Amino acid sequence: MRTFKTESKKLLDLMINSIYTNREIFLRELISNASDAVDKLHFKDLADPSVDLGSTDLEIRVAYDKDARTITVSDTGIGMSADELDKNLGTIAHSGSQEFKAALVGDGEGTEGAKSTAEIIGQFGVGFYSAFMVAKKVRVVSRAFGSDEANVWESDGMAGYTVSPCDAGSLLYDRSWGTDVVLTLRDNAGEEDYDEYLSEWKLRELITKYSNYVRYPIQMEVTHSREKPAPDPKPDDYKPEWEEYTELETINSMTPIWRRKKADVSDEEYADFYEQTFHDYSGPARTFTLHAEGTLEYDALLFIPSEAPFDLYSRDYEKGLELYSSNVLIQEKCADLLPDYYNFVRGVVDSADISLNISRETLQQTRQLKAMAKRIEKKIHSELEDMRDNAREDYEKFFDHFGRGLKYGIYASYGMKKDELADLLLFWSAKEGKWETLAEYAAAMPEGQKEIYYAAGDDRDRLEKMPVVKSVLEHGYDVLLMTQDVDEFCLMSMQNYTWTPAKEEGAEEEPEPRTIDFKNVASGDLDLASDEERKQAEETADANKALLDAMKAALGDEVSKVAVSPLATEAPAVISAEGPVSLEMERVLSEGPEGTPQVGAQRVLELNATHPVFDKLKAAQEAGDTDRLELMSSLLLDQALLMAGLPVKDPVAFAQNVCKLMA
Ligand code: ADP
Repeated sequence: MRTFKTESKKLLDLMINSIYTNREIFLRELISNASDAVDKLHFKDLADPSVDLGSTDLEIRVAYDKDARTITVSDTGIGMSADELDKNLGTIAHSGSQEFKAALVGDGEGTEGAKSTAEIIGQFGVGFYSAFMVAKKVRVVSRAFGSDEANVWESDGMAGYTVSPCDAGSLLYDRSWGTDVVLTLRDNAGEEDYDEYLSEWKLRELITKYSNYVRYPIQMEVTHSREKPAPDPKPDDYKPEWEEYTELETINSMTPIWRRKKADVSDEEYADFYEQTFHDYSGPARTFTLHAEGTLEYDALLFIPSEAPFDLYSRDYEKGLELYSSNVLIQEKCADLLPDYYNFVRGVVDSADISLNISRETLQQTRQLKAMAKRIEKKIHSELEDMRDNAREDYEKFFDHFGRGLKYGIYASYGMKKDELADLLLFWSAKEGKWETLAEYAAAMPEGQKEIYYAAGDDRDRLEKMPVVKSVLEHGYDVLLMTQDVDEFCLMSMQNYTWTPAKEEGAEEEPEPRTIDFKNVASGDLDLASDEERKQAEETADANKALLDAMKAALGDEVSKVAVSPLATEAPAVISAEGPVSLEMERVLSEGPEGTPQVGAQRVLELNATHPVFDKLKAAQEAGDTDRLELMSSLLLDQALLMAGLPVKDPVAFAQNVCKLMA
């Protein structure tokens, strides 16, 4: 009996004594080792003309035996001599295990530690010893290529291991080199069920999940049934009989779809892959690939889903791309590869340069992931631009599902991402009755329009009916109607929009970019009225100072000001907001979860002096009828709020006031 090297022993103890949710990755690890061994022989074969593989295929086989409770992973790889068995399987040879151990020890113990242990194991290679997570005994029979001796390494993972010679013909099926790794599964204990691995479908599931793209065929005996051949001649009362038979089948698909040229893969194949991998049966809206060469080589296959998953905007949603290292899955959701605002993108990234055995925490890997993430972000961006410009209908559908996330991306970055994202946004144009980009809005602005006008509220129809929206439209300006709660916050973080006009035909110079501010049409200081209209409003206000003061007194803190509107609308009065907080923002914040900071907009009741109601107000005031003036002021405020889609403070009082007026 030889003893494990101290380091190996510690690692083994950790493996055996912890219960891992990810223990199923043992198969991935053994297959990955087998594939490496086959690689080595393949390489030797290519490099050395004297090597003759004869009729032996380069392959991996997985088998199970229910009665003996064993699982075997065999390969026709390079094999190991007695010395190599001792050296390779008795020591931690590779960096991955050491990193793994360091990560574990750093964790301390307790549940917290156990949880991240599972994560660590899932994330990177832990190698051969992971077999002991499911096995009470491991036997490795190996015969090195070109040797006529075979040896067997055996261990229960505890005290130590033995290496002894065995018959050269001991390999499991007819071949003269390679390795068999035979695991005798641990006994079931309580909730711990190891028998689950002794089934065809489970092994198939694990192979397709973790090792689908291993370059060599992974074969397994699978059972089928078929009709027995009927006797000839067929008796009249012949009933067909069925029989079972087994057949070696290649379980993995070998060539990863992302390594194939896009032109060689059909849309259907991509859609199938997408559906099976991400369990989204609505299919991708867009499929695109990225191939990077140079110091860091990788392939990416990316998808934009056609529908948002139900939990996209919840806390539970996990973004990320599948990360493969040379066709072996190392992480199902690598979050570092996607910025939050592109969290809806799904796909696969595969790089031979990202080592299976290196923890994510290492500097080099962090740098590699960052570099990849940057390229991927650019690619997604240009794909979305292409969709926006060349497939507008698809893009509108996309935006309907995922636009909120883009807006949120601007808001959450305090506007830092506006250069990347602003041109991807779509807003509803009241004038055109369709979705528009900010650039399209800006390009259509008539001479003299200085700002981008918008109205915000929860319902587009209602916004369209707002008197001030109508008035702005009548002036010949378009109004963007914003109905998502994030909209105004997004605009606020952008502060303004930088528009680069398209180059005119025949023009020499590139046009200068222009910075355009956003303007809520419900803010008091709309710049629409002419100087004449303004002057008129001021004069009217001066002439009616007593009326305005009396109304302000009647409304108290409900408004910060009662004014005469310079802009004629069809309504007797409208509500607007002074200062940075709009009425819509106030509403959104008031509906936010508990703890949302509450800020009030400064409300201005703007009276329309050309409306007959204005004369009635004047009459009441001149007659000294305070009650009536109070009643009318209160009603005017409430109806202005209603038109703006805002709640009235006291609906019962409002209803009573209406009745009073009718009586
Ligand atoms: P790693 O594969 O990361 O180096 P492992 O602990 O999984 O670490 O394996 C240790 C070594 O054992 C491998 O580097 C390899 O040399 C050898 N080995 C493991 N499995 C096989 C196999 N099926 N065929 C040949 N050599 C193997």
